Amino acid sequence: VPAVETHEFEAQTERLLEIIVHSLYSNKDIFVRELVSNAVDALEKARFFALTASDAVESSDFGVRVYADAEASTLTIEDNGIGMSKQELLTNLGTIAESGTLKFKEAMEGNEVSDQLIGQFGVGFFSGYLVADTVTVETRPMTETGLGEAWRWSSDAKGQYSMEPCPEVTRQGTRVILSLNDEKYLEEATLRDLLTHYCEFLQFPVYLQTLTETEVEVQTETEEGEDEVEPVYETEVVAEWDHINEGTALWLRDPTEVTDEEYIEFYRQNFARSGEPDPLSWVHFKANGDVDYTALLYIPAEAESDYYTEMNRAAGHITLYVRRVFVSDDVTELVPDYLSFLPGVVDSDSLPINLSREMLQESRAMGTIRRRLVKKVLAKLADMADDAVETEWDEAWGERDEEEEERDLSFFTFYAAFAKALKLGAITDERNRSKILPLLRFHTSETESHLTKGPKAAEAMRSLADLVAARDTEWQEAVYFATGASVAEIRGSPVVEAALSRGIEVAYLDDPLDDFLFQHVEDYEDVPVLSLMKQDTTLPMPPGYEDGNGQEAESSLVEQYMAQVLGSKVVRVETSSRLSGSPSMLVSSSHSPTATQERLLAAQAM
Ligand code: ADP
Ligand code: MG
Repeated sequence: VPAVETHEFEAQTERLLEIIVHSLYSNKDIFVRELVSNAVDALEKARFFALTASDAVESSDFGVRVYADAEASTLTIEDNGIGMSKQELLTNLGTIAESGTLKFKEAMEGNEVSDQLIGQFGVGFFSGYLVADTVTVETRPMTETGLGEAWRWSSDAKGQYSMEPCPEVTRQGTRVILSLNDEKYLEEATLRDLLTHYCEFLQFPVYLQTLTETEVEVQTETEEGEDEVEPVYETEVVAEWDHINEGTALWLRDPTEVTDEEYIEFYRQNFARSGEPDPLSWVHFKANGDVDYTALLYIPAEAESDYYTEMNRAAGHITLYVRRVFVSDDVTELVPDYLSFLPGVVDSDSLPINLSREMLQESRAMGTIRRRLVKKVLAKLADMADDAVETEWDEAWGERDEEEEERDLSFFTFYAAFAKALKLGAITDERNRSKILPLLRFHTSETESHLTKGPKAAEAMRSLADLVAARDTEWQEAVYFATGASVAEIRGSPVVEAALSRGIEVAYLDDPLDDFLFQHVEDYEDVPVLSLMKQDTTLPMPPGYEDGNGQEAESSLVEQYMAQVLGSKVVRVETSSRLSGSPSMLVSSSHSPTATQERLLAAQAM
């Protein structure tokens, strides 16, 4: 038997790095996110160690400083965090996919510091090579006994790196110097935008160096008796540190301690379009389990003007963070399309920051988060709908409870803006249909809601529950609706007339979406929901109702005659007792499209 040989893989480091960096990152800009989050991790570790370390180490004024040097064409990201020893440089930066932070987290398991750390993959650092040919790292570690020895690491990522001591570094922490291959990243405006974008909510201050040219007067000596000489000016460049991330991550606070004003202010600063009214409500919760995350979603009062046209390919308005680091505002998987209008934040502890879009889309975590978000939002809307309904007069007490809350009509404002979204949800989201249906409102034969618009109309409309409750259960088992292009058209239709003459309330569905919706809805609270437009829908007889029937003999003659006259234009002619005032009507058979759907289909075909 030949002996089995075992060999180690060899890797072309240069190629490997290229593959890692370019397959993970579709956008060069993210090097900012990766390097600043490394700095923040180092600061978090430093804050933890400073509690027990000697006085020789800095334990306050923690922060990240970012500065460009146009002449040298370098960009530096500097922190006064924990730093790295020579050995740590070798392992953490010298080994691809080695994460010192992950090891630290594992060692500190259960400790609060471990919950704050961002890194875990050990590849983020190499994103520096997206914008730099050479990356140099100067670092001086904090140790239990004081400051350790400072070392410089440098590499062009072509397979080798160099190391040397650099005693001139006096402070603790790490400085990552990028020798840029793209001048764009020297510009202050670019850097400010990127830092704000990725780092706005980080827990340590991030400063950007700004250089301003100012004219300073140069002192010139004037001798006594001499005339005043013209003052001489010189331009001097003044460097200042601009604190970039003054945003507070409101979502991480305990919901019971955040005031309404703070929620609204946060909305204004981060999501509001100009002139947009305040949000109606919000959903704020922390979830622990398979996936740990915090979510804060707002229920807006107004739809974006192009919302309904964009909805099918809606990008979504929820920003995804991983431990406060911006990851994406283009994650369509966080909520289903019909809820894509919800603005807000999801901040997860369970996802790594450097997941590619594809990986994010496919991650199971996304599905878990989405299901919970939908549930929470629908529950919130149900609460809002409840608050909008007048509480029943309590007969037993004879008077209203003094402390009864006032009616909150915000649900109707929401409904006026987002009815279509809810209907789309009821059509497409089978799992949650039973939760969405109670939120829907319709014009009926008992309302004048079609004469008004907006929240007033929504308030005047009726729910399926209203229709179910309004019927006389002695003889009316089902509830009925009719569809058409407008309330006026529906009201004038012969079938509706017949229902009204029996005292049946009819829902007037004038929105094409309704038609599709009720193909999926057969009953509500176990009461059948029937279309008057379908042939096999027969109307019940109220006691004592005169239906003008009993003329069967004549019926078949009329049927024969009409069938002859109409020929292939109709499938069948039938006499019926459904009508009261009109002599005849067109109906569709139960399996064919209704008139409204035919209109819609015809419009789409054009
Ligand atoms: P990750 O952050 O996922 O661990 P990185 O490739 O971004 O992976 O970084 C690799 C390791 O290098 C980190 O885990 C950390 O140990 C070390 N490191 C990187 N940047 C710094 C820094 N600014 N200060 C201290 N250590 C750092
Ligand atoms: Mg990292």
